[in-house]
Amino acid sequence: EANQPLLQVEGLSARYGKVPALASTSLTLAPGGIVTVIGANGAGKSTLLNALMGALPVNGSESGSVRLGGIEVSGWDVARRVGAGMSLVPEKRELFASMSVKDNLLLGGFRRYCAREAGWRDEMDRVYALFPRLAERRHQQAGTLSGGERQMLAVGRALMARPRVLLLDEPSLGLAPLVVREIFRIVAGLRDTGVGILLVEQNARAALQVADHGYVLEAGEVVLSGPARELEGNPRVIESYLGLG
Ligand code: ATP
Repeated sequence: EANQPLLQVEGLSARYGKVPALASTSLTLAPGGIVTVIGANGAGKSTLLNALMGALPVNGSESGSVRLGGIEVSGWDVARRVGAGMSLVPEKRELFASMSVKDNLLLGGFRRYCAREAGWRDEMDRVYALFPRLAERRHQQAGTLSGGERQMLAVGRALMARPRVLLLDEPSLGLAPLVVREIFRIVAGLRDTGVGILLVEQNARAALQVADHGYVLEAGEVVLSGPARELEGNPRVIESYLGLG
């Protein structure tokens, strides 16, 4: 397992009913690496993450190979993939609005609690250290948090499962530029913990700045990929995703 990439995806396709949404996508993620998939609305970014997680809606289906640390996990259900080390921060955050910050975090550790994993509660201290704002608001109802705080809580909850691979679905969505900067600073810091990050984003500029490697998704297909620094200078990427700013 030592020489295996953390996550290796080959020929992953997905469809909703008969309609294809993702065509034979391949990508690789190294431990401590940050890979971004950029694309416009409807390009298939959420479909990719949900297919990786085994979490497509009921009308969805996927095919292809997903290997985590060399182990084939395609066909596994979501809970088993979480247990193996995959954690998703969904685009809509999906927090439990009437529950406290603390209880939302505890739910992120629920599988480890059920598995009687020693020290699963210690993760909460690490999450609070990473997001002091959540520590201050641990007894506040999740539904009353600001957009940025909600995103922090969704990331924190995912980290409670102690993932090897963190899948982030548009963490910058709906957030003010200053908050986006804060979120990306935290994402960059997570790299040091050894977790691999797959970051799906419409905000291509911020995503390419934080990532090592990038993929461009258009209409369900990877049309371009390369080191993030190169993509930032690619005329096609600049024209379609970076604008003039
Ligand atoms: P956005 O940034 O707007 O969330 P995206 O890149 O994440 O877009 P997806 O949500 O993956 O895109 O959608 C890809 C395609 O699949 C779109 O054409 C969308 O309409 C379609 N699609 C997504 N979910 C479903 C579903 N449950 N049933 C049918 N079609 C779907």
